[in-house]
Amino acid sequence: MTRSGQAAASLTSAQAALLGLDQSGLVAIGKALLRPEVARAFERLAAAARVAGFELAIASAFRDFNRQLLIWNRKACGELVVRDDQDCAVPMQTLSVEEQLTCILRFSALPGASRHHWGTDLDVYDAAAMPEGYTLQLTPSEAAPDGLFGALHAWLDERIRTGTSFGFYRPYDEDRGGVAVERWHLSYAPLAVGCEEELTATLLRRAWDECAPGDDLALREALEVDLDQILERFVGRVATAPAAARDYHDQEPGP
Ligand SMILES: [Zn+2]
Repeated sequence: MTRSGQAAASLTSAQAALLGLDQSGLVAIGKALLRPEVARAFERLAAAARVAGFELAIASAFRDFNRQLLIWNRKACGELVVRDDQDCAVPMQTLSVEEQLTCILRFSALPGASRHHWGTDLDVYDAAAMPEGYTLQLTPSEAAPDGLFGALHAWLDERIRTGTSFGFYRPYDEDRGGVAVERWHLSYAPLAVGCEEELTATLLRRAWDECAPGDDLALREALEVDLDQILERFVGRVATAPAAARDYHDQEPGP
């Protein structure tokens, strides 16, 4: 049995799903996994985008705990480059562990605390605007008004502003001193708002103890110095979902 399986056995299925340890309730759109309600809303948003001339595509949706753990550990040990706000490589070895934590958390979530665990959040781009052979970056310059996907994001802004985004909004719309601005990241408010409320330090520690015990989670000791503050800054500081997105009601398709 995998570690994820063991954790899922001792946590409720809702808790395991929140922590990226259970993907059994998700459905696929291509390679992307989402909660069924989110997938239906995304199909509606994509259909509206098509009418406007865009090909709304998913770069990344559900990501599990172990995948996030791998990203985290590789960044902590220097195997993956950590970049700063100016897109420059951070000289991690010269920083204190507290500074290392802050640099990683600016662009990467803690294992167990990623919104990508929930099946409600996804990163999008306009496949129709991609030049042949272009490698998707998901960078601020791509999403900027004069960037490759600027027109798609202006269209999404307008849908969100007018309450016609089928429940989607941008949690990382501006810099609140936590996670950097990520205009490509959309969240399905009717379900994500509940996930935000359920995620606690206690629950996160249980996931780490069971699925990444001891040294399996890099920088664990430094994280424990003030985990509540870290969660407030890098999980809690997000946009409040607009009422129209939060109150969106999914209409079950008929049989
Ligand atoms: Zn994202």
